[in-house]
Formats: sequence, structure tokens, C-alpha cells
Amino acid sequence: MRVYNFSAGPAVLPEEVLKEAADEMLDYNGTGMSVMEMSHRSKAYDDIIKTAEKDLREIMNIPDNYKVLFLQGGASQQFAAVPMNLMKNKKAAYIVTGQWAKKAFQEAKIYGEAIKVASSEDKTFSYIPDCSDLDIPDDVDYVYICENNTIYGTKFHTLPNTKGHTLVADVSSCFLSEPVDVTKYGVIYGGVQKNVGPAGLVISIIREDLITDDVLPGTPTMLKWKTQADNDSLYNTPNCYAIYICGKVFKWIKKMGGLEAMKVHNEKKAKILYDFLDRSKLFKGTVRPEDRSIMNVPFITGNEELDAKFVKESKAAGFENLKGHRTVGGMRASIYNAMPIEGVEKLVEFMKKFEAENG
Ligand SMILES: *Cc1c(COP(=O)(O)O)cnc(C)c1O
Repeated sequence: MRVYNFSAGPAVLPEEVLKEAADEMLDYNGTGMSVMEMSHRSKAYDDIIKTAEKDLREIMNIPDNYKVLFLQGGASQQFAAVPMNLMKNKKAAYIVTGQWAKKAFQEAKIYGEAIKVASSEDKTFSYIPDCSDLDIPDDVDYVYICENNTIYGTKFHTLPNTKGHTLVADVSSCFLSEPVDVTKYGVIYGGVQKNVGPAGLVISIIREDLITDDVLPGTPTMLKWKTQADNDSLYNTPNCYAIYICGKVFKWIKKMGGLEAMKVHNEKKAKILYDFLDRSKLFKGTVRPEDRSIMNVPFITGNEELDAKFVKESKAAGFENLKGHRTVGGMRASIYNAMPIEGVEKLVEFMKKFEAENG
């Protein structure tokens, strides 16, 4: 039996994608082998990666002057790749809205002058700072954000005013959750294990003029975006199986009606949960309402023992991974694309029952 898996990542994937992959495990499309056993230079694999890219371009409406790279090392590897590839003036502006943004900021400091232009750390990252008129030096190479803060459950609903500078965004936990205007970004990247596929793969969508040989001295060949772009993400053996699963998820999203439909589906789920939290006498959300994420929903009872009891009892009732991040405590429900509405409805029913018993 499958549980309702509220994990922040690696996270729930569409059941039909998993079933299809299972059906193809021993013999992919008449090749007599698994995708795991296949040369990344084979015709069959070439079709898989090309089709995945084509479908992603279609879903996200990615313009022709952007490259799509399937890279290894997860989102965290891009924390270094971003400054290595973009820091021509060795200066960048970072908006620090959580642990992941902070890690990226700290990594950038290894390579140049990373300037924290805004932060929400004063209130445990429970809001998105006003980024409409930040003090951004003229000579920064880019402005960096983590668009959806997985741990704290906040989301930039308005992109920052970068004052004309290139915007770089880590979208790991909101990837493909709603339509996006790619042209507003220089670089969009995300580890796929939050909303798209298996861990270890990061997809970077990069405007072509930002992909050059002019990288920081000492940049490893593998971390140079140009190496990867020139080789269509096949400079070395990529994470073949993860790309194959992502390709299936892209097809699933298309079938479901694309990103517009995903947004409707995700907003509906988030509303069920937030509406309950706003009415509940026991549970409350931890995020400023206007900055709430529709992907990650943290909440608390205000009593640590009761939180622990809730996590334990919810697990026994078939709701997995509701424990909050170790740095925040409380609970967190991650309700990515593949979480059915029914999962959220049942969770709310369970929370009501818990409230009645413990209120
Ligand atoms: C999970 C996560 C990461 C880290 O991803 P890895 O693939 O483990 O490196 C980075 N940024 C955000 C926003 C995340 O949610």
C-alpha cells in the first residue's frame, strides 16, 4: 500500500510514472535492456534525452535563446557553478531568505564579493523581504534568489527588482508547479528531487549569452556551463535514469494540462490546508500569509510535545514525513505536483480529529 508522502524531498512522484518505469524495467521499448544498462550514446537514449528536453521546453515555454542543461551534483553544485560562470566582476548580490539561499551566498563568497542585499533572517525566514528597491551596486554580475524556500515555506510571489541585472533563481522546490516567464531570468535551476524526479540531477536553464569561456580561473571543466552546453549535457555520462524519469514526468504534466493546470491543482490543495490552519485553534501556519508557498506548508501547535505526538500519530495513520525541518521544528507538509487533493483532504480530516482530541 502507498502512503501519503509529504516529504520535502526526495518526494512523491506520480504513481503512473512509477508504474510505467516498472513495466519498462527489464525491456525498454524493445531494446531488451533497462535504461540503466544502456549506453548514453545509443540511439534509444538519444531519443530519451532529446524528447525530455523538447517536452520541458514546451511545458515551460522556454525561448530558443536559452539552453537546457541536465547536470549532476544536485542544486548544491550550482551554488558554486553560478559564481564560477558568472562572476566577471567578482561581485554578486544575494537575497537571503532561508538556508538554501544562505548556503549559496556562503559558497559565492569563496569566489568573489557576495553582498547580502536583503534578508529575512531576523524573523526566522518567515517572510519575503520587500525587494522592490534594493540597494544593488551597479557592477554586480547578477542578483540571486531562492524562489521557493523549502524549509520555511515562503515564496517570492513578485520577483525582485534587479535594477537591470541578471536574475539567477534556485527553483528546486517550485519547479514546474506553475507557469513561469523564463525571459525574466538569466539562470533558472532546480534539483529535480522536489517536484520532478529522482535525486542527483539538476536542470539549469541558462540564457545563451551567459554561457561563455570567460569563467573564473580554476573552474573545473565539468562545472563550466559551456562544456555541458557544447555537448548537449553528454560531455560525460549523465544521470541517465533520472533524466528518463523526468522525461516521463514532463509527459505526465502535459497530459494533466500543463503548468496552468498544475497551478490550479496546487493552489486548490494549498487553500484546503491554509484555510484549515487559519481557522484552527490548535494549529497555526508559521509564514506571513502573503508570502506563503503553495508547495511547502510549515505549521506548529506551539507546544513541542504536542508537535511530536502529532508527527507520531500521523505516521501511524499513513501520513509520512510531516516532521518539520530539524532547524525549525514543528511540522511541514510538502504538497508537490504529485500529491493528490485527496491526500490533503485526508490530512486535514486527521488534523481536525487530532485537534478535537488534544484541544
Ligand atoms: C533541496 C534543495 C536544495 C539542495 O538540493 P540538492 O540537490 O540536495 O543539492 C537546494 N535548494 C533548494 C531550494 C532546495 O529545496
